[in-house]
Order: sequence, then C-alpha cells, then structure tokens
Amino acid sequence: MSSSNYLKDLDYSVVQQCMHCGLCLPTCPTYDATKLERNSPRGRIALMRAVADDRLDVTKAFGDEMYFCLGCLACQTACPAGVNYAELFEHARAEIEEKKVLANPKRNTIRRFTLKWLFMDLRRLELAGKGLRLYQQTGLQSLVRNSGVMKAFPKRLQELEAMTPAVCDKFSSELIAPVTSAAGERKYRVAMLTGCAQDLTFSDVNRDTVEVLAQNGCEVITPAAQSCCGSLHAHNGEWTLAQQLARRNIDQFPPEQFDAIITNAGGCGSHLKHYASLLKSDPAYAKRAELWDAKVKDIHEWLVFIKVRSPKCEGRNQTVTYHESCHLTHGQKVVAQPRKLLKGIPGLKLVELPEANWCCGSAGIYNLTQPEMAGQLLERKIAHIKSTGATTVATGNPGCLLQLINGAAKAGLKLRVVHPITLLAEAYRAENSQ
Ligand code: SF4
Ligand code: SF4
Repeated sequence: MSSSNYLKDLDYSVVQQCMHCGLCLPTCPTYDATKLERNSPRGRIALMRAVADDRLDVTKAFGDEMYFCLGCLACQTACPAGVNYAELFEHARAEIEEKKVLANPKRNTIRRFTLKWLFMDLRRLELAGKGLRLYQQTGLQSLVRNSGVMKAFPKRLQELEAMTPAVCDKFSSELIAPVTSAAGERKYRVAMLTGCAQDLTFSDVNRDTVEVLAQNGCEVITPAAQSCCGSLHAHNGEWTLAQQLARRNIDQFPPEQFDAIITNAGGCGSHLKHYASLLKSDPAYAKRAELWDAKVKDIHEWLVFIKVRSPKCEGRNQTVTYHESCHLTHGQKVVAQPRKLLKGIPGLKLVELPEANWCCGSAGIYNLTQPEMAGQLLERKIAHIKSTGATTVATGNPGCLLQLINGAAKAGLKLRVVHPITLLAEAYRAENSQ
C-alpha cells in the first residue's frame, strides 16, 4: 500500500458501496446525539469517498470528524448494502496520521509513548502495570485522592486519575501454566491470547477462560510472553505497526498447530479475525493470515460451537443482564452465544437490557479522547442497567467492563460487573466442590 494515500488506494468497490439510504442513521450514537449529517455513517462515508476521489483534502476538520466516530460498527450491522465501514474507518484514520493533520507536540508525545513504545512490547506494559500496582497497593493512591492534592491539577487530569483501573495482584503468566491439560479426554488443542489491558486489569478472566476451556475438553497453550493484537494501532491509524504485530502473533501462534486461537476480549477478537486483509500484500504472510483468521474464535462462539457442557451445580440465584460489546456484536456477529451460555448457568436469571447493543462509550480509548460524548453514552447505559433491576451486568470486553465499573461507581450503584465466562467458571467450580 502506498504510504500516503490510504483511502485512494483502497479497493474502490469498498469506497463506493454506500447507496445513501440512511438506514444506518438511527443506529449511530454520534448522529443520535447531534442530528448532524456529517456525524452520521452516511456523512462520514461521503467525506471519505470525496478524499478518495480527490475532491476533498485531508484537513484537521476531516481528522476531527473521523476521531469523533466511535468505531462502534453499529452502522455496519444496520447497512443493507454490506458497507465495510471498519475498513473505511481504519484507512481514513491511517491517512489522517500519515498527513499529520492532527499532530501537535502533546498528542505526538502521548502516541509515541503508548502506541509506538508501551504497547509494542508487553514487558514494558507489565513493568508500568507493576509500578501502578505499587502506587495503588501501598496506599499512595488513596493518600493522593484523600489529600485533595489532585485539585491543583487540571480537571481533565483529575478525571483521568479517577478512571485509573485497579491493577490485578497477579498477571496471567503468574496464574496460568504454559500448558493446561483438558479435564478428562482431550478433544481439542487451543491457544489462549491473554491480551494487553486484559492482562493488567482482568487476568482473573483469563484464568477463568482457561479453566472453562479445560472443563470442555480443551488442552490450552498459554505462553507467558505474548504480544498485543494490534487493534489499538489499527483503530488509531498506525497501520504499519498493526501489520508488525499481526506478523508477530502469527509467528508465535502458528495457526496450523491449533484447532482454535481463543480470545475473550470482543475488541481484540474483531481485529484478530482480519489479519488477512491487513497482510494481503505480504507474500510471506498472506496465506497464513487467512488460516489464522479462520482459527481465531471468540470464547463464547467457540464454546457454543463445541457444545459446551452445562454445569451441574445447584447454582445460586442471581439476576443478570447482558451488555453487548460493540465489536463482539457488530464486529464479530457473536450475539446469541453469550446469552446461551448465561442461560445455561443453574440459578441464573437473564433479563434483557434495553438498547443492549448501543455503545457504552468505552470504544477503545474513546472515553479518554472524547470524554463528553463517552460520558453521555455511559449515563444512558447505566440508566438502562438500573431499569432491569439486575444486580449483575455481564459483558465480554475489558474496555466495557472498565467503563461500566466506573459508571456504576459514579452513579453510586451497587452492581457486579463481570465477564460471562467468569460466571460460567464459578458454576463449574461450584459443581466440583459439591
Ligand atoms: S462506527 Fe458507530 S459512531 Fe461511527 S459512524 Fe458507525 S455507528 Fe456511527
Ligand atoms: S445503511 Fe449502508 S448504504 Fe445506507 S446510508 Fe448507511 S452505510 Fe450507506
């Protein structure tokens, strides 16, 4: 791909697919908030096509518009013409970064530190996580918060500090053996991707996933050293780095050796299933990337496919509602499977959440870059959760888990926020302790 014309070089059948019907408009959270055409999928696609056709320059206004988009892909589900919004959106952002229309010293420094350094080697992220954990567990964080010293800092920094996630006591490599045997007969051999943010904040969900897989006849291979999937990079215009990470993952988890490559993070899975389009111009990896895409499975999808075993415990009575991660639902079309798993847990009553597939505002790092819009979406989501009367909300993506934990705390709502697989793992444990 030419380094400077991402949209122009994109297959024109993708660029011209939109027939302007407007059926996507009611499903778009940013259009819903502003009612402005340019904030809608149809409006954004028209802008992208104008750039591809050389009728519009890539400007700061274009950049701002593309970063106001959540990338939630609700429009892709609604579209009868099969518009590939994900591909358009990623190419638009890559072009914005290539043309540097949003560049400024602060933004450049943050991107250099996070996307180009921290997330390119997860040992660095783990080290940062250990530092943060020390800050939290020595009581320094509480001291800082209670002392009121944060009031001296800009409001945005205060908000960011309040959103800092709690780092786990142990990371995945300390909780999960490199090889976990299947409980009983081995039917499958699978690889487990432990993720980046997921590993820092929800390594227990990774452990639960491995336990559930083992309970269902899978031998699970979980190497201690892993790489980021690159979704953060692809969604934020760092196309070349995303390709680099995709190659690294394919080398580390040769798809020929596994029945499935498992992910439990909706956002990562949506990206992981598209390595073939990322590497299509790379003769050394194109074919393997196709096989890789076919082997990547979301955990809910895989368990239903292999006919998950229902836990045989008595179960504890709990009312649970389910929030759909955008990229699990719209990106991967994994909609029925998490509900099926939840309904199979003894004692669990599943109540449907109004607007379950409406974005919660997390959207990767959107809650950090667009706090106002993200805050509105979170309030709307929490109000809906409240209306169900559920005491637990389940969701299959670490970004959504963190966003809902923060939303519940802000609203003073006593709510358990949990991954569906954790509820399943708890039921198997209850069965085994009977
Ligand atoms: S990805 Fe989401 S926010 Fe962006 S245009 Fe589509 S529906 Fe709207
Ligand atoms: S639904 Fe699809 S074809 Fe219709 S306006 Fe939206 S993106 Fe275009």
